[in-house]
Amino acid sequence: MDFLPLFHNLRGSRVLVVGGGEIALRKSRLLVDAGALLRVVAPEIEVQLRELVQGSGGQVIVRGYTESDLNGCVLIIAATDDEPLNAQVSQDSKKRCVPVNVVDSPALCSVIFPAIVDRSPLVIAVSSGGDAPVLARLIRAKLETWIPSTYGQLAGLAARFRSQVKNLFPDVQQRRAFWEDVFQGPVADRQLAGQGAEAERLLIAKINGEAPSAGGEVYLVGAGPGDPDLLTFRALRLMQQADVVLYDRLVAPAILELCRRDAERVYVGKQRADHAVPQEQINQQLVDLAKQGKRVLRLKGGDPFIFGRGGEEIEELAAHGIPFQVVPGITAASGCAAYAGIPLTHRDYAQSVRFVTGHLKDGSTDLPWNDLVAPAQTLVFYMGLIGLPIICEQLIRHGRSADTPAALIQQGTTANQRVFTGTLANLSQLVAEHEVHAPTLVIVGEVVQLREKLKWFEGAQSLV
Ligand code: SAH
Repeated sequence: MDFLPLFHNLRGSRVLVVGGGEIALRKSRLLVDAGALLRVVAPEIEVQLRELVQGSGGQVIVRGYTESDLNGCVLIIAATDDEPLNAQVSQDSKKRCVPVNVVDSPALCSVIFPAIVDRSPLVIAVSSGGDAPVLARLIRAKLETWIPSTYGQLAGLAARFRSQVKNLFPDVQQRRAFWEDVFQGPVADRQLAGQGAEAERLLIAKINGEAPSAGGEVYLVGAGPGDPDLLTFRALRLMQQADVVLYDRLVAPAILELCRRDAERVYVGKQRADHAVPQEQINQQLVDLAKQGKRVLRLKGGDPFIFGRGGEEIEELAAHGIPFQVVPGITAASGCAAYAGIPLTHRDYAQSVRFVTGHLKDGSTDLPWNDLVAPAQTLVFYMGLIGLPIICEQLIRHGRSADTPAALIQQGTTANQRVFTGTLANLSQLVAEHEVHAPTLVIVGEVVQLREKLKWFEGAQSLV
């Protein structure tokens, strides 16, 4: 190990920064975040840096560096592009045995800055010893995605009860087991879901030796339109901790793969007009499984609250007092539009966008056609394939031009995505010609013509 990682308490301590430009500013921000009092010395100092230093009670000295600037400082940063000066600062600091960092010159440093993941009070530092800083930054980026932003709050909660727990369990083994339980159980679940008060309540109950409720929980999670890259961090985390997964037809196999390996998987897929498992039965299943104490993942295509019947499912859970979390997902409209190069709104073409169900209950009468033909509006039809001839006909009959551009996007965002564009007049014909099948999204409006300009983007996406 070339460098020993230590975490430096700088609160209220004086730190010297030599340099007044962009790099000095970057380092100064970190130092101020850590509570340091800065002394910044340089012949010229950028306004932003000046404001930062003065705003945090530090000292700005506009002139060249002199050795006496080191007086009283516990850490020295040289951030100039003047190599001899950087070397001088390094030498002076080492002579006084004060830690020194010279930006981008590992050989002149006695301490180096790591790449930082800040979930204060939890802080993770990654370093390559100055050999490959880009690699360290990439690792940091991976950690950023992996560690929920609420982790710091979890650590904060633990800090508040630390001494109480220490008194309760003088034995270190017992204490460790207690905290392991906290960080991997319902307390952590609640805190990471942003429900701090409930997490605290559970922790207090645990400290008081009250038996934890045996009840499980349901995660209603939007899995996005197909590309696994479009999952949210929270979705992925819950997918990896659930005991049982209820999923339907719209959830891509590649996404299901990301669930915990040993989780039980239950298919409750629904085909249009052929409800494999009736909705009431799914609701009941969620309730039953949660009552058995399981963490149940209800995985849905797109967003659970957009034509996903998510509302009905949580109504049932709420009625039974079962805790649940809802995790939004990227809905088909956003995903398909982005991957097909069709912006849903555009200053010149559409000032609003409307998500419409194309599932027509009684022929054609149940959609507000007069509203749907309003100008400068993009329409996105979900489940619109079967009713498409009626939809196009009614839009034209109610006044939308037969030439209005329209697009069909089949299996959007997946490797099998197919896009066909035409007009209201010929869209149904395209379905037959190209054997378009579900799931397909229909976009109607002038914005569709932008695809010609933005299409390259689609190829770029699929390369990723
Ligand atoms: N909750 C989902 C929508 C469920 S309704 C969401 O927010 O996306 C099912 C309809 O969504 C399908 O009939 C189809 O019109 C559309 N859809 C879902 N995923 C799709 C995809 N990958 N490509 C095209 N259409 C999709």
